[in-house]
Amino acid sequence: MAREIFTAEHEAFRDMVRAFIEKEIAPHHEQWEKDGIVSREVWLAAGRAGLLGIDMPEEYGGGGNTDYRYYVVLNEEFAKAGIHGPGFSVHNDINGGYLRSLATDEQKARWFPGYCSGEIITGIAMTEPAAGSDLQGIKSTAVKDGDHYVLNGSKTFISNGILSDLVIVVAKTDPSAGAHGVSLLVVERGMEGFSRGRNLDKVGMHAQDTAELFFDNVRVPKENLLGEEGQGFIYLMQNLARERLSIGVTAQAAAEAAFDMTVEYCKTREAFGRPIGKFQHNRFTLAEMKTEITVTRTFTDQCIVKESKGELSIEEAAMLKYWNTELVKKVVDRCLQLHGGYGYMMEYPIAKAYQDVRIQTIFGGTTEIMKEIIGRSII
Ligand SMILES: Cc1cc2nc3c(=O)[nH]c(=O)nc-3n(C[C@H](O)[C@H](O)[C@H](O)COP(=O)(O)OP(=O)(O)OC[C@H]3O[C@@H](n4cnc5c(N)ncnc54)[C@H](O)[C@@H]3O)c2cc1C
Repeated sequence: MAREIFTAEHEAFRDMVRAFIEKEIAPHHEQWEKDGIVSREVWLAAGRAGLLGIDMPEEYGGGGNTDYRYYVVLNEEFAKAGIHGPGFSVHNDINGGYLRSLATDEQKARWFPGYCSGEIITGIAMTEPAAGSDLQGIKSTAVKDGDHYVLNGSKTFISNGILSDLVIVVAKTDPSAGAHGVSLLVVERGMEGFSRGRNLDKVGMHAQDTAELFFDNVRVPKENLLGEEGQGFIYLMQNLARERLSIGVTAQAAAEAAFDMTVEYCKTREAFGRPIGKFQHNRFTLAEMKTEITVTRTFTDQCIVKESKGELSIEEAAMLKYWNTELVKKVVDRCLQLHGGYGYMMEYPIAKAYQDVRIQTIFGGTTEIMKEIIGRSII
């Protein structure tokens, strides 16, 4: 059933995204999972199809359309198809927000055309080996030296870490100023002293590259400062809500997909002379999941509409992320159980989903941190 929050244009876009997945992604995804990385070609194909920078200005090759619901459609279709390889969401939903709102005209001219065409793949590097949830504890420093910042430090778990050509790095420009001493610097591929570590071996999302990054006296020109010096934390707070919403949107779609495939399985798999879905326990399990998913869908769509109007609060985004990602984890686990031994076989999509969704309660801020954000707004 078509959802009220979407128009005919969104649905036409959905058809286009499905066709893109079928043609450009599905035939390669298994190989990318083995490789631990996707091809650069799929990024270029996405650029040609208009899937990158939908909200970027048209003069730079973007779609010029700031309606967030297009990104929702993109994320939902990827989640439904179990596609985790191409890190388009990091590029579009997360990094695009920082670049669109903070880049100077000169930076826009330098980066946006490649960003929209897929020639410039982006990443964002906040997390460090010793600081994830506690971002104020980061150790990376960027010390001013004439027309440059000298950047030192290391980052880990960075999505698009191997492929990225442009990385927004969170570093301390004034370590004595606490939250007011953090800035965002754009580090580009090829800068001297910028290197990458391992493509990390993860529990799931095997087709996506997640890497360590190292900065050893990297001389970053002042022209690569994003926004104002010392305002990094404020920018993070402003943009993390969108990131959390997008993760929640993805989680909801993944839960729905897992549920749908499990209903089909319960209709066809038989035990004791009847389809397994006919046992009361299993019917109740399906009933509970359907109820939880349906109720959650209402809040998810409410948040999507609010974000489209620029009205979503940080607390609401945290609530959605907490709830939806915990829900998908539970749903996928119960769906796998209903598949019996076949659910544990990697040839079954539910097995892959079990691995792939596990991260969702962790990245973009853990469930515990979401509860802190929500709790602090209450008391
Ligand atoms: C696949 C993947 C992709 C990622 N992509 C990126 C990326 O592109 N860019 C980026 O910067 N980072 C990325 N991350 C990092 C991710 O955001 C962090 O892993 C996450 O924020 C948690 O930080 P941590 O791993 O340091 O855990 P920690 O902060 O060490 O937390 C460990 C545990 O302690 C709990 N905890 C911490 N503080 C509190 C508290 N105050 N109260 C209660 N419990 C608490 C946490 O909830 C968690 O359960 C990625 C991670 C993964 C695994």
